[in-house]
Formats: sequence, structure tokens, C-alpha cells
Amino acid sequence: MKNYFADKVVWITGASSGIGEALALELARQGAKLVLSARRADELERVKAATTLPADNVLVLPMDVTDFGLAPVSAAKVIARFGRIDMMVHNAGISQRSFVKDTSLEVYQKLMDVDFFSTVALTKAVLPYMTRQKSGHFIVISSVAGKVGTPMRSGYNAAKHALHGFYDSLRSEVFDDNIRVTVACPGYIKTNVSVNALDEKGNKYGQMDANQAKGMPAAECARKVLKAAQQDRKEVFIGGVTEKAAVYLRRFFPSFLFKMVRRNVPE
Ligand code: NDP
Repeated sequence: MKNYFADKVVWITGASSGIGEALALELARQGAKLVLSARRADELERVKAATTLPADNVLVLPMDVTDFGLAPVSAAKVIARFGRIDMMVHNAGISQRSFVKDTSLEVYQKLMDVDFFSTVALTKAVLPYMTRQKSGHFIVISSVAGKVGTPMRSGYNAAKHALHGFYDSLRSEVFDDNIRVTVACPGYIKTNVSVNALDEKGNKYGQMDANQAKGMPAAECARKVLKAAQQDRKEVFIGGVTEKAAVYLRRFFPSFLFKMVRRNVPE
């Protein structure tokens, strides 16, 4: 039987490391054609080589996703190369480690630009092609932080929450064009996300958090994201019992959850 992802054209942002890299490797294993985007072209070339796909089946397309004007130009390049876009994986993201009282407005703007507005810009660039094809799938990497607000991540939480509102709307608007939307909410995944997080001044936080260090391997997360997409899940939670319990408690016992979260405010 043909693999579900075989020959599908899948565009992944944030493909130069972590979950995006793991998604690229798993999709390559399943025979997809890949478009790899992030800022670091050398790292994208490394990931391309690691896929062992024929060179023609991978397009390295370096971009800063906050350069919103580039979105339509980049989408046109993908179409010129492959003729279609079957899946758009909005994975590029940046986290935060700083208190509200200390964090500059510029840092909030950057977090919203990378984690939210970039997905809007790329979605609007890709949508006309998917509408014409009468098929397509947006896979959005949100987070448990898109459902539960925790200290020192106010801007990150806000951006991830915004993704849910936007993509729930989009899902209903594009259903009749056979375009699907899966929003994935990982918990703690073992990547450099905390190292690359922004501090209150917008500098790199630079530390590997204990929760990420002992988190789920990125490859396992990638397999679960793809399984959810294949099953056309609308929303999926990926991670340990603690993170899943937090989402459940937020939904059904919010006061209890808020008390638990308060106890975890760092000194
Ligand atoms: P990484 O820091 O390893 O990966 C982040 C990726 O985003 C990199 O490839 C980076 O590439 C890219 N990126 C960041 N800023 C930009 C930009 N301006 N333009 C283009 N690309 C950019 O962390 P993860 O792999 O963990 O993060 C991937 C996604 O998973 C994020 O959306 C994150 O919020 C989410 N997530 C992660 C969790 C975790 O515990 N790890 C938990 C829940 C969600 P480059 O630097 O080359 O531009």
C-alpha cells in the first residue's frame, strides 16, 4: 500500500533544528517531497543531506518568516519547483523566559511576529494554490502553552493561544475546498527551544531547561504530529501525563490549575 505522505509536497518552516528537523527526516522516510525553510541556510543544507532523498525532491528555501512580504514570493518559488503544495507545516517558533513587568514591548512584538503573524502571512500566500487544487492541509505547531498560561511565557502563551482562534476559524472556512487544519500542542520536547528563547530584552536566554532536557525526543513528537495529520485530527496533545493533565485541569478545574501554576512562579 502506498504511504500516505509519499510524493506529497510538504513545506516545513523551522526545519533547521528540533521538531522541524525531525518532521523533515520522518517525512523523507515516508517518501514526501520537501521544502525546508528557516533562517540558517547551512543548517537547512545539513538537514537536506540527512534526508538522503534525491536532490530534486528537496528545495532548501531559506527565509526569515517575519519578512512577511517574502511569503507570496516564497510560495511562488515552491509552485515553480513542484507545481503544488499539499501540506504547509507552520513550525518555526521562538519561546520566552521573562516576567511581564520586565519585558519590553518590542519583545512581545517579536514573539507575535514569529509565532503568530508569520503563519498568517504564509497561510494567505499558500491558500490560493490549495483552493485551486481543491486540496491541502495546514499543520500548525502550537503548544500546551496555547491552552495553559504559565509564568515567564506571557508573550509566547499569547501567540500560541492566538493560533487556535485563527486556525479554528480557517478550518471552517476552507472545509468545502477540501483543505484541512490540524493544530498540534506538544508538551515538553527535547530541543533547543529554551536555549533559543528570548529574555526580557530580546536576547537569547541561552539555558537548557530541565523540563526540555528530559522531554520527549523530537523524532517521537514528529511521528505523533504526522499520525494526527494523517487521521485528520483537528487538535492533538503530545507529551507526558503532567502536560496533558494541565490542559484537562485548565478546561474543567481552572481555579485549581491557576493555584498550581502560581506555586511554580520562579523566585
Ligand atoms: P528550536 O529552537 O530547535 O527550533 C525553532 C525553529 O524555528 C528553528 O528551526 C529556527 O530556525 C526557526 N525559526 C525561529 N525564528 C525564525 C524566523 N524568524 N524565521 C524562520 N525560522 C525561524 O525549537 P523547537 O524545535 O522545539 O520548536 C519548534 C516549534 O515547536 C516551535 O513553534 C515551538 O514553539 C514548538 N514547541 C516546542 C516545544 C518544546 O518543548 N520543544 C513544546 C511545544 C511547542 P533558524 O534559527 O535557522 O531560523
